[in-house]
Amino acid sequence: MKAVYFFDEGDGKNRKLLGGKGAGLCEMTRLKLPVPPGFVITTEVCKKYYENNKKLPKEVITQVKKNIAKIEKKTGKKWNSKDNPLLVSVRSGAAISMPGMMDTILNLGLNDKTVEGLAKKSNNPRFAWDSYRRFIQLFGKVVFGVDDKKFDDVLDQAKKNQAVQSDSALNEKSLRCVVSDYKKICEKHTGQPFPVNPFDQLELAIKAVFSSWMGERAVVYRDKNSITKDIADGTAVNVVSMAFGNMGNDSATGVVFTRNPGDGTNHIFGDYLINAQGEDVVAGIRTPKHVDTMKDELPESYKQLVKTCERLEKHYKEPQDIEFTIEQGDFYLLQTRSAKMNAAGMIKTSVDMVKEKLINKDRALQRLQPEQLEQLLHKTIDQSKLKDFTQVTKGIAASPGAASGIAVFDVKKAVEIGEKGTKVILVREETKPEDVPAFFASVGILTSRGGKTSHAAVVARGMGKPCIVGASELKIDYEAGKCTADGKTISDGDSITIDGSSGAVYLGEVPTIEPKMTDNFKTILDWAQKTKKIGIRANADTPAGAQLARNYGAQGIGLCRTERMFNAQDRIGLFVDMIMAKTIQERKKVLEKLGQLQKSDFIQILKAMEGYPVTIRLLDPPLHEFLPNPEELANKLRKLEEQNATSEINKTKTVLERARDLAEINPMMGHRGVRVGITYPEIYEIQIRAVFEAAAELAKQKVDARPQIMIPQVSSIAELNHIKRIYDEIKSEMQKKYGRKFKINFGTMIEVVRAALTANELAHTAEFFSFGTNDLTQATFSFSREDAEGKFLPEYLEKELLETSPFQSLDVNGVGSLMKIGISSGRSIKPNLEVGICGEHGGDPKSIKFCHHSGLNYVSASPHRIPIAIVAAAQAALEKSSKKPSKKPKSKKKAKKKAKRR
Ligand code: PEP
Ligand code: MG
Repeated sequence: MKAVYFFDEGDGKNRKLLGGKGAGLCEMTRLKLPVPPGFVITTEVCKKYYENNKKLPKEVITQVKKNIAKIEKKTGKKWNSKDNPLLVSVRSGAAISMPGMMDTILNLGLNDKTVEGLAKKSNNPRFAWDSYRRFIQLFGKVVFGVDDKKFDDVLDQAKKNQAVQSDSALNEKSLRCVVSDYKKICEKHTGQPFPVNPFDQLELAIKAVFSSWMGERAVVYRDKNSITKDIADGTAVNVVSMAFGNMGNDSATGVVFTRNPGDGTNHIFGDYLINAQGEDVVAGIRTPKHVDTMKDELPESYKQLVKTCERLEKHYKEPQDIEFTIEQGDFYLLQTRSAKMNAAGMIKTSVDMVKEKLINKDRALQRLQPEQLEQLLHKTIDQSKLKDFTQVTKGIAASPGAASGIAVFDVKKAVEIGEKGTKVILVREETKPEDVPAFFASVGILTSRGGKTSHAAVVARGMGKPCIVGASELKIDYEAGKCTADGKTISDGDSITIDGSSGAVYLGEVPTIEPKMTDNFKTILDWAQKTKKIGIRANADTPAGAQLARNYGAQGIGLCRTERMFNAQDRIGLFVDMIMAKTIQERKKVLEKLGQLQKSDFIQILKAMEGYPVTIRLLDPPLHEFLPNPEELANKLRKLEEQNATSEINKTKTVLERARDLAEINPMMGHRGVRVGITYPEIYEIQIRAVFEAAAELAKQKVDARPQIMIPQVSSIAELNHIKRIYDEIKSEMQKKYGRKFKINFGTMIEVVRAALTANELAHTAEFFSFGTNDLTQATFSFSREDAEGKFLPEYLEKELLETSPFQSLDVNGVGSLMKIGISSGRSIKPNLEVGICGEHGGDPKSIKFCHHSGLNYVSASPHRIPIAIVAAAQAALEKSSKKPSKKPKSKKKAKKKAKRR
């Protein structure tokens, strides 16, 4: 096995084998950039080390010795020499960067003999002894696990003895004593003499770096950042001859980005320290200077730095983040990697690099992370101010953006004060359609229950309001008007901030940063629009939502949930009246009024989307969702009885009776969707008529309106045909009434497993399909979309039974297979059948890729996700082959029975 690669041997593209740092050092050496000689021990050796019970394979040491000899030859320095000693750094470096998570040792090779050589050669005994004490401290900590405090105490004592304040003021004599004491600390800890042979030191250091791969810090970091084995499996070890930035005032060390990572400006950005080693920068002992001042302080080195940055960018075609050291005027590169930037930086550099002809437009799109663009579409927390605020708890980030306001637990109160202009964060255990007026009146929503497709999450996303759901630590006491988590209390009226992008809840008003749609962002969206193949539509049910989506580039509405239109303040009462109606006649009368309201809504939405299809879905939720829950009503009744409020008592009793009547054990699988349309045909009739009436009105106004009608929860062709007959009757009635033909397509959602399996039957009647993957995921897994994410899914993710929540990213193997069946069997009947997706997955980049490769006509996403969807769709179009399917879920757990919806 080739275990070791000298920097001029390694393949700079093989990050998996050599780690990111090793690959970068090899590539820079190949480019003849000034990299100190060194070599990489591969990640394969790391794996062998663990397979071998933490022992290094024999051939590794032999190869390491050969490569040390090579360094000696290149540098003219000698291992274990008393005249001109070779010293090395030993650094970790996995395939993916894990900053600060693994260990590094500097100045290795020092002992009582070589320290004298270093003193002689550098003509600076103080520097030599300072390097020696740093080495023992780092080695003791990393290799032997000695507590840093023990070393710090010795150093503090030395400063006291010499009556100086800073480490850098310690003289050679003091440092010699420190070294002696440091060695004693190590010897006491291990019961062995401190290793003096540099090869022994090196072997121990290599093992320690490999061990740090499984250290707690590194394991947690990989877990939190979803770094799986196929992304990075083990660390490499880089052994590099030391370049000293602490050899006087013509020496320095620093870190720079080739462009500003905060806004993408094309100017080097970073810090450096004169006469210092890298660890001084990290430890923050001295304040580094901005790299611009280097122009005056070290002009030659500055020129070299700028030239090097340009060369690296030209080569990697990506802004770089580099580490450098200047040793007595000689410039060395110690690391290069792609710069991590925020969304604004990524967007600007993409556009700039195309202008500079460094990359083409395809690459400019491919290098973006669509999810990151969210930063530019919503208010974000000002991270620099966060340290002054207390985090109360963390829930599921359900709708992005940050908002501050006063916590209000009562829905009515939220509406009252919110409408008067107070900024309100509505805090509830969960929400229901009847709470929606409070959504309009609030700036953000926080719930202690529910998942990403719960009612609160979906409604808030549709409105573009920040929302956190499933903050399960939060114990809410409505009676007392407060909630607590982790010993912290939020009382009604307290100012709080929610970050719907991270799920964090803070006490007080955290400053935020406003979003902005820059010209560069528009340019990127324009390129993406021209590149993508799949259509992008919006899930929108208000004219404002439709307009916003259109402004962002949506080409239609893939889902207009009509039930949302009943939620507005002036409608919910009417809708409740409709539910409470005792006779059909009474119900029809109320429906007539609701129909008029829906017609005017449809007109506005269709106008906002003129020229594009608007898919209007008929009523979907069970009727009882519009009534307060029986438990709440019973409480209210008890209170009214105590107060003897007779007329209110009777009214509440009637509503309670009806609510009990309509209540279901499992409403998600209950009386909803098309089942409501079949049992209360007058509801669907009025909605269908409202669509036709709106189309007729817009035709008069010469507006190119393109509505289509969609039926939810269909499981059989019999159901679909039943509604189709109602549709046909109304259609001919309307054609007669207006003396014109209407082209309003009639289609179905595919969100019930049976619908996917019998899509060929449905395709005889349906003119289009739309996958409702929220419900389809729920049905496929038997996971309640309302509860799973707040209950057992986090543990599933932790135990790696699932890679991601299937409600967030489409389960390609399961739900995806059902979709493929649905698409192919539907198109076996109608080859040009329009098929889209309107579940929340329509806005998820990974799922969009799947949809693109599966031949869907469009994805439909909430308005604020449209730019993300456009870029993700462009990336899917640029991708050569579809991605590997994700892991198969191993869950056998049944979904909780009680379930609500949206
Ligand atoms: C779905 O189930 O995916 C869907 C879009 O419908 P809803 O979320 O309204 O149930
Ligand atoms: Mg659904």
